[in-house]
Amino acid sequence: MPAQPKPNGASINGIYPLNDVGEMGASSLPVKAGRQAKLSFEVFPAKTAAGQKTLLNELEGLAGYNPEFISVTYGAGGSSRNGTAATAKAIQNRYQTQVMAHITYSAQSRADVIASLEQFKDIGIRQILALRGDEIANAPKTEAQAFANSVEFISAVKEMGFDVIRTTAYPDIHKDAKDADADFDWLLAKFDAGASEAITQFFFDADHFLKLRDRLDKYGFADRLIPGILAFQDAQKMQNFAQQCGVYIPPALKKELDKTANSELAEAHALSVLLDLWLRLSAEGISRYHVYTLNKSRPTQTLLELLGVGKQASCQLSAPPVTAKKHSSSDFPKGEKALNFSKMSYL
Ligand code: FAD
Repeated sequence: MPAQPKPNGASINGIYPLNDVGEMGASSLPVKAGRQAKLSFEVFPAKTAAGQKTLLNELEGLAGYNPEFISVTYGAGGSSRNGTAATAKAIQNRYQTQVMAHITYSAQSRADVIASLEQFKDIGIRQILALRGDEIANAPKTEAQAFANSVEFISAVKEMGFDVIRTTAYPDIHKDAKDADADFDWLLAKFDAGASEAITQFFFDADHFLKLRDRLDKYGFADRLIPGILAFQDAQKMQNFAQQCGVYIPPALKKELDKTANSELAEAHALSVLLDLWLRLSAEGISRYHVYTLNKSRPTQTLLELLGVGKQASCQLSAPPVTAKKHSSSDFPKGEKALNFSKMSYL
C-alpha cells in the first residue's frame, strides 16, 4: 500500500482531520473515491408481513446505489431464523441484488444451524456472513455446542458450497480477545478457513480501522477489509449500543456529541460526524463501505447525497423471482415488537 500523506487539515467536528488539499494536490482529493464508492447495506429481518412491506419500501431509496449486496442479520440463538430467510427472499425477489444472510451458531444445535443454511440455499442465497454470535441470557441448553469455534464453522459453511463467505473484524478489538495480536491472528485464521472478506464492527476511531487495514496489508489482505458504518441519528442510543458492542467512542467525539444531545441539531450533528469519518476513510483510499442502515433509508441516503455518491440505477425493481420454496406469513413470529435500539442485539 503506498504511503498516505499525514492528515493535517481540519474537519467539520475537528475529530477526524482530513488531508490538506495543498499537500495532497488536487488530483489526490478523496472526491473520486467517495463518488465511486462500492456500497453494501445491512438490515435486520422484519417481524411481520406489514413490517416486511415497509422495509422493502425503505430499501427502494438505497437499491439505486447498486449495492454489492444487501445483508440480513440473524437473531442471537437462531431467534430470527425464519425471519432472516423470509426477508432475504423478499429482497432478492424485489431487487436485482445479491443478498447475504448472516448466521450464528451459538446457543443452537448443529442440526438447527445446518437446517438454516439449507433453508438459505433453497431460497437462492449464495453469500453468507458466518458468525459465532453472542451467548444469550436464559437460552435453552443445547446438548452440545454446534461448532467448536467460528474457524471450524467457516470451514463447514464453505463445504456446503456457498459462493461467498464473509467474516467479522473488530477495529476496536473484540472484548473476548486476549489482546490485539490474538484478535488479529484470529482474523487471519478465519480467512485461512475460507472467509474471503471481513466486515468490521462499526467504529468511530478511524485510526483503529486504518491500523487493522495496514496490518492486513502486510499479508496482501488490505482489500479484504470492509468498514462497517453505523448510520445513526440518535447519539445517546448510538453510545448505548456502542457500549454493548465494545465499540470505542473517542472522548473528544463524546464531548462534541454531548453539546447537541436532545437538541434539534442532534440529527445534523450525527450526520456531520459520519461525513467526517467517511471522508477520512476515503482520503486513506477506502472505497468500499458497509452501512448499518437500522432499516431506515433516509439517514444513509442523506449521507450518500452529501458525499456525492451517485446512484447507478442498475439495481432493478421487480426482478424475476428466484426459484424458491414458498414462505407463508406464518414464517413471521407473532406480533411485532417495537424496535428498541438501545437494547438491540441483532434482532
Ligand atoms: P469470533 O470472531 O469467533 O470471536 C470474536 C473474538 O473472540 C475474535 O475476534 C477473537 O479475538 C476471539 N476468539 C474467539 N474464539 C477464539 C479462539 N478459539 N481462539 C482465539 N480467539 C478467539 N450477531 C448476531 O447475533 N447476529 C448477526 O446477524 C450479527 N451480525 C454481525 C455483523 C457484523 C459485521 C459484526 C461485526 C457483528 C455481528 N454480530 C451479529 C455480532 C457478533 O455476533 C458478536 O460480535 C459476537 O460477540 C462475535 O461473533 P464473531 O463471529 O465475530 O466471533
